[in-house]
Amino acid sequence: ILLSLHGNYVRIERMSPNNTSVLLIYTGGTIGMIENAETGALESFNFEHLQKHVPELQNFTFRIDTYQFDPPIDSSDMEPSLWAKIVAIINDNYENFDGFVILHGTDTMAYTASALSFMLENLAKPVILTGSQLPIGTLRTDGKENLITSIEIAAAKNTNGEPLVPEVCIFFGNHLLRGNRTTKISAESFSAFVSTNYPPLAQAGVHIHYDENQIARTTSKPLRPHYLMNTNIVVLKLFPGISEQTVRSILNIPGLKGVVLETFGSGNAPVKEWFLYLLKEAVDKGIVIVNVSQCMGGSVQMSRYGTGCKLEDVGVVSGYDSTTEAVLTKLMFLFGHRYSAKVVKENMNRSLSGEITLTLHN
Ligand code: ASP
Repeated sequence: ILLSLHGNYVRIERMSPNNTSVLLIYTGGTIGMIENAETGALESFNFEHLQKHVPELQNFTFRIDTYQFDPPIDSSDMEPSLWAKIVAIINDNYENFDGFVILHGTDTMAYTASALSFMLENLAKPVILTGSQLPIGTLRTDGKENLITSIEIAAAKNTNGEPLVPEVCIFFGNHLLRGNRTTKISAESFSAFVSTNYPPLAQAGVHIHYDENQIARTTSKPLRPHYLMNTNIVVLKLFPGISEQTVRSILNIPGLKGVVLETFGSGNAPVKEWFLYLLKEAVDKGIVIVNVSQCMGGSVQMSRYGTGCKLEDVGVVSGYDSTTEAVLTKLMFLFGHRYSAKVVKENMNRSLSGEITLTLHN
């Protein structure tokens, strides 16, 4: 693979009495931005700026090395080739570090967390994404707190010396959330992310309380990094009045492989003949259409209402209680393997990385 952005490693030397080490990967985002004096707009800055404003980093008693994207990016520019770059950095350094913290813009953090949860198969170490709503140099920044606690979580081990959180997570606003269950819900609040369909893995107050029942079990299998994502996927959000022409145009995009169909309530959609016909035509061509609810809480249950049943009849598959971000990146990942539509559909009914809850009801 071609990794399009440059970057470099920086070692912060310090005593490491317990041999613990964390790699901090700085991709960009508000956390490291400063205000352009002329325009007033926030722009990315390099890691030294960040370090200068978080002298507390020097107080950790373990090794923290950093890798910084050069130049750092606003996360609106994040894309699959950069996810592959992050996967390569983690894979190259996997044996040398106990955990990884990724500093990332909040805007697309939930997409990156979802993608990495699939691309880092058999992950047995913490990969914690974090960022902030206010840049780290500003007085009321939430960045310091988020960064410092994320490093602590990435380094946390149980009494057997195993990592406490061997999965891809987002730490933000005192909550540790499973990465592929999160969605950004606020451009204002310091609690910018929610995981409506899965409980937090940990809450940080005076102490960090981990909920071990919710955290993924660790695996002894070797890490399997995946790099290829197929981007011939589209998100189609339904709304009352959506036209036949719109649906037809989208479903006939050349090369289209998968559709995340954002439906109403528990997975409902219009029963108009043209609509069902177009969906069936797409399914028959081998396009995988996955039903995800526009509601943030609850699960798709296509057999609950007649309208949902019709979707099932034309071959739409359930996205269960997953987020749009998780289904989108799961489709990219599965089609990245060049799997047939049949195999992709089978995998949509499986939880690959804790992204869906399978119950008797769905
Ligand atoms: N635009 C920024 C980004 O996503 C916002 C943030 O970091 O909060 O990179």
